Parts: sequence; structure tokens; C-alpha cells
Amino acid sequence: MITKILIIGACGQIGSELTLALREKYGNNNVIAADIREGNASLMESGPFVILDATNKEAIENCVAQHEITDVYLMAAMLSATAEKNPQKGWDLNMTSLSHVLDLGRDQKIKKIFWPSSIAVFGPTTPKTNTPQRTVMEPSTVYGISKLAGERWCEYFFNKYNVDVRSIRYPGLISYKTLPGGGTTDYAVDIYHKAISDKAYESFLKEKTILPMMYMDDAIKATIDIMEAAPEKIKIRSSYNLAGVSFAPEDMEVAIQKYIPDFRLSYAPDFRQAIADSWPNSIDDTDAREDWGWKHQFELDDITETMLDNLQKVL
Ligand code: NAD
Repeated sequence: MITKILIIGACGQIGSELTLALREKYGNNNVIAADIREGNASLMESGPFVILDATNKEAIENCVAQHEITDVYLMAAMLSATAEKNPQKGWDLNMTSLSHVLDLGRDQKIKKIFWPSSIAVFGPTTPKTNTPQRTVMEPSTVYGISKLAGERWCEYFFNKYNVDVRSIRYPGLISYKTLPGGGTTDYAVDIYHKAISDKAYESFLKEKTILPMMYMDDAIKATIDIMEAAPEKIKIRSSYNLAGVSFAPEDMEVAIQKYIPDFRLSYAPDFRQAIADSWPNSIDDTDAREDWGWKHQFELDDITETMLDNLQKVL
């Protein structure tokens, strides 16, 4: 049977790169991009696009039936910093959209689901270094609460209805093609933009705030790899820990200064500092490595070189 993919939230930071990667793999016409708004030119011009509200169950069902969709990637969500400003809206969007897509799986209208979780499922009482797959999880943000609840729902639908749902706890993602969408790790993208335009950056996180991060190409590879793995290899049906690199703002300053020696970093922490302080410094992703062969490629120096090279061309 031919794989036909629907990506909901396709115009966001991850969705816009994931859509292009999946189109290259499965054929442009077999990957339908959907969002409540239009995306960038390469996304809009490379294959089918539909305007779709992830909270509208009937609209999703119609789209799935019309395009004979087999796999859904649900990327629509309200991210950590934005959801702290609109807690009820964040909860509603994140839970309603997941519930609709899981129901499609239960009712056998689709075969496979990808839904991303986040390191935000962890909280201030979680061990901070090499955070294990299974540990204390008491998230203090509404975003983290919604992701933890989502993980439980995914595992529940797998156990109870045999829904083939797969998930990764993404760390902060760094990319140059699409701007980030209101997360706590956005600084790690903004800093490269400002390094090129102003040779200076004011960080909203303070020194020594070490967070788990990953370059987008690694995240896209992990997403496609977990979806293509044989079902018996996916032993965790809540969500897998996934690690790339861990660093603090001052580590980025040093990395950028190798290319822009007069680059200067200053600090003006805001409400996002408290969110960052509640998250791990580093992640133990042994299960993902052992179960389905995950391995990251990009270290901080690789990320910095790629970001500065490409942004210099784009900006
Ligand atoms: P983003 O904010 O950049 O993109 C989300 C997209 O969803 C946007 O294009 C938005 O228009 C769309 N959207 C919002 N409401 C919608 C609705 N009602 N119907 C349809 N589309 C809607 O987010 P992202 O960074 O691409 O994140 C994608 C997923 O990955 C989210 O679940 C997020 O929680 C998760 N995640 C992201 C990161 C990261 O660093 N970017 C880290 C951990 C987890």
C-alpha cells in the first residue's frame, strides 16, 4: 500500500523542513502539507497544501478521507513561552488536536501517527544531568503539562487500541530556514541572526543556563527514522528521550567568535529563564540508540558553521 502523509502544522519551524524531506522521500504529491496559515514558497510550491484547523475533527477526517492518508504527523502546537502567556489556549490546542488524531488511529482511518513531545515534560524535581528516560516528571509549565499528558494518551491508545503512534522528546531545535515559533530555546537561533546583522546579541537566558539542543537535520532524521522503524523496534510508546548537544549561551559566544571575532554577548533574562531553569541540562537517550539506532551528527561547532554560512547567504 502506498504511503500518503498528512502533516498538520506544516508551516512551522519543524514542519516546513520535515515536509520537504518527506516529499523528497515519498514523492511530492504523496505528502499533503496542512496549517491554519500559508507557509514559505518552497513548501507551498513543492506539493499539495490545505488550510486546516487542527482543532476541527471533521475537517481533519474529511482531509484524511479525500487524500487517502495513511500517516499523520501532528506538528501543530502552542510552544512553551507562548503557552505561558495563554495557558488555557495552549492546553486546548495541544490536547484537542492530539485527541482528534489518536481517534483517527483508533477508528482505523489512518495507520501511523507521529506526535512530538519535548524535554518540557521534565520539571524542577527531575535529575538535571543525563536525565533518564524514566524518572520524576513534574513539569511546571502548561506546555510541559500538555506534553506529559499527551505522552500518557499516546501510550494508552497504543495499549488499548493498538494505535501505531510514535514520539520523540525533542530538545531545543536550531535551524536557519524557518524562524522558531515561541519556545524557550529560540535564543539559540536568534543569536546567529544577530551575530550577522549586529555582531552583538542580548540573551534572554542568563550565563550557565545549559540546555539540551539539536540541529534541525538531526531532528528530521530522527523523525523519519522512528517512523520507518519496524513496529517491534518501538518499545516505548509514550515518547523517546533524544539527545544532541548541550550548551549554555556563553558556549555559543565562543563558537561564534571563531567566525566573527568581535561578536559580543550580553544578558537580559526574562520570564523564559524560569522555564529554562526547570528543564534538564542533558539527556540520556540510550533507549532511542538501542531500540531504533538513533545517533546525532551535529556538534556545536558544526551547527555554528552551518548556521552562519547559510544565514549569510539568506539574510
Ligand atoms: P511552530 O510554532 O514553529 O509551528 C507550529 C505550526 O502549527 C505553525 O505553523 C502554526 O501555524 C500551526 N498551527 C497552530 N495552530 C494550528 C491549528 N489550530 N491548526 C493547524 N495548524 C496550527 O512549532 P515547531 O517548532 O515547528 O514545533 C512543532 C512541534 O514540535 C510542536 O508539537 C512542538 O511542541 C514540538 N517541539 C518543538 C521544539 C522546537 O525547538 N522547535 C522542541 C520540542 C518540541
